[in-house]
Amino acid sequence: MKKGFVFAIALIFGLAILTGLGPFEQNATAGKTVFVTIGTGGITGVYYPTGGAIAKMVNKKRKEYHIRATVESTGGSVFNINAIMSGDLDFGVAQSDRQYQAVKGIANWKDKGPQKDLRAVFSIHPETVDLIAAVDANINSLQDLKGKRVNIGNIGSGYRKNAIDALTANGIDYKKDFHAESLKAAEAPGLIQDGRLDAAFYTVGHPSGYYKEATAGKRKVKFVPIENIDGLLAKYPYYAKAITRVTELYPGAVNDKDVPTFGVKATFVTSIKVPDEVVYAITKEVFDNFETFKKLHPAYAGLTKQNMLEGLSAPIHPGAMKYYKEVGLK
Ligand code: GLU
Repeated sequence: MKKGFVFAIALIFGLAILTGLGPFEQNATAGKTVFVTIGTGGITGVYYPTGGAIAKMVNKKRKEYHIRATVESTGGSVFNINAIMSGDLDFGVAQSDRQYQAVKGIANWKDKGPQKDLRAVFSIHPETVDLIAAVDANINSLQDLKGKRVNIGNIGSGYRKNAIDALTANGIDYKKDFHAESLKAAEAPGLIQDGRLDAAFYTVGHPSGYYKEATAGKRKVKFVPIENIDGLLAKYPYYAKAITRVTELYPGAVNDKDVPTFGVKATFVTSIKVPDEVVYAITKEVFDNFETFKKLHPAYAGLTKQNMLEGLSAPIHPGAMKYYKEVGLK
């Protein structure tokens, strides 16, 4: 038994040396299934169903690609990028601003430096930075958050920095001016209903389960406009003005107008260490069946093949680039 095991290991390494391929590539080329994990976000966000949509498309072709993709609910963008860099995840969804910061070695990556192995695959749906507040808390602007209990987001999330940037632009210090919570987004709607939170930030595509849940409770909730952001937009290249279509998408919210804010894009990222054929197969599956993919979530309504190549700051993974060149997208 032990001998056989040692022999098997020796054989794998022997093959790897002979062919010059790592164990990952060995699997792909030997027709054995390669397992890949996609990091997403909380289950009431849009990343989680997005990971599910991509996995579903790839797994359907298991016989052809020999890839089995699984999806993990995670803390969000920052967690995903770090887990991809450490090899704990193969793919992940991350905000375009977080991709930019990781590549440049700024914000959460200031101490670690530029994440040189991070690679872009494609971008996906737009996301807006939003603040919801209980109507009875009388919050009509970011200034009104003073003295309140506010969720600014968990450390691994992408949206925490969006919240802090919006607050800073409005002259508010979350450490001093209110009671800041660092909770995962999925927890916030329930805590607002329980009276343990007055307001909460989140950056997500629309429609999302999160805002449906947040606006369906007994304690009425509204979206608060995020204003005074011109300086923010001038300073950071990855932010753009946006409108959250509250009246159409969340009729449970106490808003009679749509709400101005700013936004980013969700992007699909990986590591240079993930083999070209795996990234190629996933890219091909999504783009060759673009109309099918687009129907998998209403947040994808505005997607085009061209705009799925915008908002990427990491180099495009060679496996994805091979596909884009083949079809003339690059
Ligand atoms: N943009 C959020 C974040 O990275 C996640 C949104 C989602 O899960 O759809 O924190």
